[in-house]
Amino acid sequence: MAQQNASAGKTLGAETATQPVFRFAPSPNGYLHLGHAFSALLNLKLAKAHHARLLLRIEDIDPERSRRHFETALMEDLEWIGFRWDEPPRRQSEHLPDYAAALDGLIERGLAYPCFCSRSDIARACAEKMGWPRDPDGAFLYPGACRTLTQQECEARRASGARFSLRLDMAKAIAAVQGPLTYREFHEGEDGLAVVAAPELWGDVLIGRRDVPASYHIACVLDDAAQGVTDVVRGADLEAATGLHRLLQALLGLGAPDYRHHRLVLDSDARKLAKSKSSPCLRDLRARGASPASVRHELARLMKVEF
Ligand code: GLU
Repeated sequence: MAQQNASAGKTLGAETATQPVFRFAPSPNGYLHLGHAFSALLNLKLAKAHHARLLLRIEDIDPERSRRHFETALMEDLEWIGFRWDEPPRRQSEHLPDYAAALDGLIERGLAYPCFCSRSDIARACAEKMGWPRDPDGAFLYPGACRTLTQQECEARRASGARFSLRLDMAKAIAAVQGPLTYREFHEGEDGLAVVAAPELWGDVLIGRRDVPASYHIACVLDDAAQGVTDVVRGADLEAATGLHRLLQALLGLGAPDYRHHRLVLDSDARKLAKSKSSPCLRDLRARGASPASVRHELARLMKVEF
């Protein structure tokens, strides 16, 4: 029987009520490597199988690491590998006012607060407490020093020029939604399963950076909604973030796409490939004479997925 995804207005199975939308969302802070190529090609394969539109989103809100030449390079590399997208790419740096407005709304509702602690303040405070819990990315959970600041205290610190980020008040945020929240996860070749979101694993997570009024999490959920994304296909390293994204969607009145978190392409030491490490990027492979077909073939062999 066909399954209905109410949020996306999509019917899986016999006929498609509205055309599904997939997206690939790289950050232009380095050259693309085989892991990105796999994710992009899997999106392409699934989008074709679902007669879906396929979008490219440039996640460039990090001013310290994003570079235009990496954006140009990633588009060239994606075209080289055979990835095609349907609309002009959406660049997150062009939508900062939208993210700021959503963050302001959360502050007004008492669900987010300014935090004046630096990363080193937090690391120092938590390192002193033996066994202080960490979030799924390995960072210490925020101990909460700024959660109880009064409005006057915040204003005084801001007036003195102190820089601040924004944190979600996780306990209040969870209390503000009708829980438990679920999303639909598809594993390879299987029907979607309802997964219960576990946003609490992130504690009072950062949702607004010091330097830009946005964070990966807030920009990602707002853009998935703005672009009408029905199916998110991304690496298993982002699976834990999906529980947090589901909470943000509920808080912001956004529907939830379906998710597929794929296995990561690992290097010969079973470590995740990262742009910052010295794993070969697509450009290096091309310079060494690899063809797009040979890269696709190698990925298909490694990951046991036909492209
Ligand atoms: N920009 C993220 C990355 O390059 C991907 C985010 C996502 O697919 O949600 O890892």
